[in-house]
Amino acid sequence: MNVNPNILDAIGETPLVKLNKLVGPDDATVLVKCEYLNPGGAIKDRMAVHIVNKAEQAGLLKPGATIVENTSGNTGAALAMVAAVRGYKCIFTMPDKMSQEKIDTLRAFGAEVVVTPTNVPADSPDSYYETAKRIARETPNSFYVNQYHSMDNVEAHYLSTGPEIWRQTGGKIDGLVAGLGTGGTMSGTGKYLKEQNPAIRNVGVDPVGSVYFSYFKTGELPEPHTYKVEGIGEDMLCKAMDFGVLDDVRQVDDAICFEYARRLAREEGIFAGGSSGGAVSVALKLARELGKGKTVVAILPDGGKSYISKFYSDAWMKANGFKI
Ligand code: PMP
Repeated sequence: MNVNPNILDAIGETPLVKLNKLVGPDDATVLVKCEYLNPGGAIKDRMAVHIVNKAEQAGLLKPGATIVENTSGNTGAALAMVAAVRGYKCIFTMPDKMSQEKIDTLRAFGAEVVVTPTNVPADSPDSYYETAKRIARETPNSFYVNQYHSMDNVEAHYLSTGPEIWRQTGGKIDGLVAGLGTGGTMSGTGKYLKEQNPAIRNVGVDPVGSVYFSYFKTGELPEPHTYKVEGIGEDMLCKAMDFGVLDDVRQVDDAICFEYARRLAREEGIFAGGSSGGAVSVALKLARELGKGKTVVAILPDGGKSYISKFYSDAWMKANGFKI
């Protein structure tokens, strides 16, 4: 028999797939890590199960507890899946720019979702961070995950995503490209890979409107503004983002993220989210810079299904001023 004892056992060991049509003949090989094939639908499964395991071991999560978190959607789905298996309740706060499909997914797993306004500063009492903190304070026997400042978020990728990529490439990797949200993916994966080979270039991807790009380049925090691509970019600095592992940060705009996600689906048969499109657009540029014989790995954090009514819809693209 070849059976998983429960669904959490199926997290990780995702395929690493070569791109064939988007890459030019003189470019480096581009491999994509298909994190949307995790059981909860995104890379966040790795972090969720690791944080819950650590919290249980530390006695912070007790039977019947309520898990509270601010989430752009994927963390919520991952935590709700873990909570369903382990018998916890969940309350999530989510900014109102997130797709209805993501909100409905969390509710399908039995979580309670509180929708908060997107266009308020992080320190506003109405922001999704502050609302989650208040709910955690007011809910007895609750555990606030706080992924943005959790070192266990980073450690999850240091212990799983990094070693998997190293093993799957047989150590033949010259560049890692990953979107920066909490920073956990890049900080953990990038740290592990650099420890194996310091020559590997770690390149973060940040949407226009987020603070990471400017902070990395100039040390200054610009005034953030909103953008449409989901899951990457931040309006504040957080502990999970270790700038020390980064060799470079490249900026992407919504149009590039959506164009490359759509091309991935149509030309490579890979159905991924907008942040994946952004990562692939940067990976293709890096592949051109590094040239034939080198290898670039791009992380695809989530799948396309959550965005069918958004950038995969021609009507939505036109209505929002994007070319198709
Ligand atoms: N893309 C998507 C769709 C995400 O949900 C996230 C997580 N916020 C990321 C990229 C970035 O991952 P991380 O938080 O590990 O930086």
